[in-house]
Amino acid sequence: MDEWEPKQPLGLFLCFYISLKVIKLLIFRDILCIVFFAILSIRKGGWLVSELETILPVPVLVVEDEDLIQERLRLILTELGYNDEMLIFAKNLQQAFLEIDQQPISLALVDLGLPDGNGIELIEKLRALDSNVLILVISAWSTQESLFSAIKAGATGYVLKERDDAEVLLAIRSILRGGAPIDPFIAQEILKQISAQAIPTASDEKSTDQDADLLTSRETEILDLVAQGMSNREIAEQLNVSKYTVESHIKHIYRKLSVTKRTKAVIAARTLGIL
Ligand code: CA
Repeated sequence: MDEWEPKQPLGLFLCFYISLKVIKLLIFRDILCIVFFAILSIRKGGWLVSELETILPVPVLVVEDEDLIQERLRLILTELGYNDEMLIFAKNLQQAFLEIDQQPISLALVDLGLPDGNGIELIEKLRALDSNVLILVISAWSTQESLFSAIKAGATGYVLKERDDAEVLLAIRSILRGGAPIDPFIAQEILKQISAQAIPTASDEKSTDQDADLLTSRETEILDLVAQGMSNREIAEQLNVSKYTVESHIKHIYRKLSVTKRTKAVIAARTLGIL
């Protein structure tokens, strides 16, 4: 792509002005010049105002190794108001690194699976060069790991290639408006995992506390010795109490845990988190 020259608009403007003066279109000159200069000047400073009056950051770097998807993204960007001279295409990391060394990038659409490496490397470099650059990952990879790596590296948003053109366009538009779009498929997977994890709620914690209070400290001590395989007589000797006292405690333990056997008492206590 030809580099856009910042001085070109001024030169074109002067040519236009002089031409008009020469042919003496004095009546329309001022009006026409104002309109012409306005059209040229809005392209200065890394921004382009589209026909839809959306402010578009330029230039755009598209890093994608598949020709068909490159073309698809070009058409989507065109629909948003971009023209070809504002778009830079790279098919691999090497080309992309060369391009970002030559000019500052305002918006980057980055594929992750590239022939010579992972797009994450490029995202890190883009972010290091400019904290304001907008970076949308457009990848076939739908894992949480890919998403987290990309966001950690500095991506602004992440959308899957399987989305249709309208959805990709919406993701780009969202980024242009300050959003951080995350593909709904990956977002849903993350939400499912979060809900599946046993995160203790306030009521769960309360019930655990109640379970812990279920047995007295003496009963818990005795049940712990039961769990170690000790008989009532051994427990009585260890705690220096009578065998009948131990049996009485164990009956209480059975009743509180709704069990009738030593092994079941131990299992129930472990399930409740008492042991
Ligand atoms: Ca690829």
